[in-house]
Amino acid sequence: MVSGGAGFIGSHLCEALLGSGMRVVALDNLLTGSPGNVSGLLADPDFEFRRANVNDEVVVDGDVRYVLHFASPASPPQYDANPIHTLKVGTLGTMNMLGLARTKGATFLLASTSEVYGDPLVHPQPETYWGNVNPIGPRGCYDEAKRCAEAFAMAYHKAHGVDTRIIRIFNTHGPRMQVLDGRAVPNFMAQAIRGEPLTVYGDGSQTRSLCYVSDLVRGVLADLEHGDELPVNLGNPEEVTVLELAQTIVRLAGSKSKIEFRELPVDDPKQRRPDISRARRLLEWEPKVALEEGLGRTLEYFRTVV
Ligand code: UDP
Repeated sequence: MVSGGAGFIGSHLCEALLGSGMRVVALDNLLTGSPGNVSGLLADPDFEFRRANVNDEVVVDGDVRYVLHFASPASPPQYDANPIHTLKVGTLGTMNMLGLARTKGATFLLASTSEVYGDPLVHPQPETYWGNVNPIGPRGCYDEAKRCAEAFAMAYHKAHGVDTRIIRIFNTHGPRMQVLDGRAVPNFMAQAIRGEPLTVYGDGSQTRSLCYVSDLVRGVLADLEHGDELPVNLGNPEEVTVLELAQTIVRLAGSKSKIEFRELPVDDPKQRRPDISRARRLLEWEPKVALEEGLGRTLEYFRTVV
C-alpha cells in the first residue's frame, strides 16, 4: 500500500515496487497528485489505483506486507495553501496507515522530511539533530505534522511492536514534478525553457542539496529491507546555493533567461545538507546521480510538459 501513490515520489516508488515483483495498491486523494503519474501503470495487473483520503479510515482486504505513507502536500506554496489538510495527513493519516500496518502485521515506512530540522543551526544535519522549527510560521503545518508523524511511528513501534521505518527526505527532483508545484527546480526549469526571468528568492545565498528521484527510491527500498525504527536521512550531500542552482539550470537549458531577485519567503531555511553517514553504514546507500546529470534528466522531462 502506497499512500500518495499518484504523487511525484510516490509514483516512482510504485513503479520500483512493481519492478521488484510486488503487487501495489496506490492510494491518493489527488489533492496534489495526478492520475497521469500512474496512467502508465494501470495496464499492469499487479497495480491498482484507489482514489482515497487516508485521513479517513483505511480499510483493505487481504494481506499487506508493506505500508508506505507518502501522502502529503510537499511544496511550501502547496502546504501553505492547504494547512489543515497537511496537518491531518501527517497526523491522522499517519495514525490510520500505522493502524493498517498493525492490523496486517506489515512493515510501515514514513516519508518524513528534512523539514523536521527547520532552519537548521547544525550543518550538515545528522539524524541526531533535533531541529529548529517555528510551529506557527507558514511551514509549521508541514514541519510539525511530520514531526508528529515520526512520534506516531515511534509510539506504534514501542507500544504495539509495529516494524517501522522513518526516512527523512531532503530536496528531491525528477520527472513528474508538477510545473506549478512552486519549488525551485520546477520554477527555474519552466522559466528557463520559456525564456522568462528566473525568480531567485532573497539573494540566493541560501543552500540546498538536490537528490535525483531514482537515487531516493533506491534508498527507500534499501531502508525497507535493511533499516530499523530510527530515522535515516536520504538525500544528496552535494550542496549548492540557490543562485548557483538557477545559473546551472539556465546553462543546461541553453536559455537566455536573466535572474531576478524576489523577496525571501518567511522562515526559508538558510542552509540544508544531509549527513548521510547513517544511510551509508546501515543501508550501504549513497546517491549515484551527480547534480548536473540529474538536472539534465529532469530538464528533459520539463521540456515535454512546459
Ligand atoms: N526558491 C527560489 N525561487 C523559486 C522557488 C524557490 O529562490 O522560484 C528558493 C526558496 O526560497 C528556497 C529554495 O529555493 O530557498 C528551495 O525552495 P523549494 O521550494 O524548492 O524547497 P524548500 O527546500 O524550501 O522546501
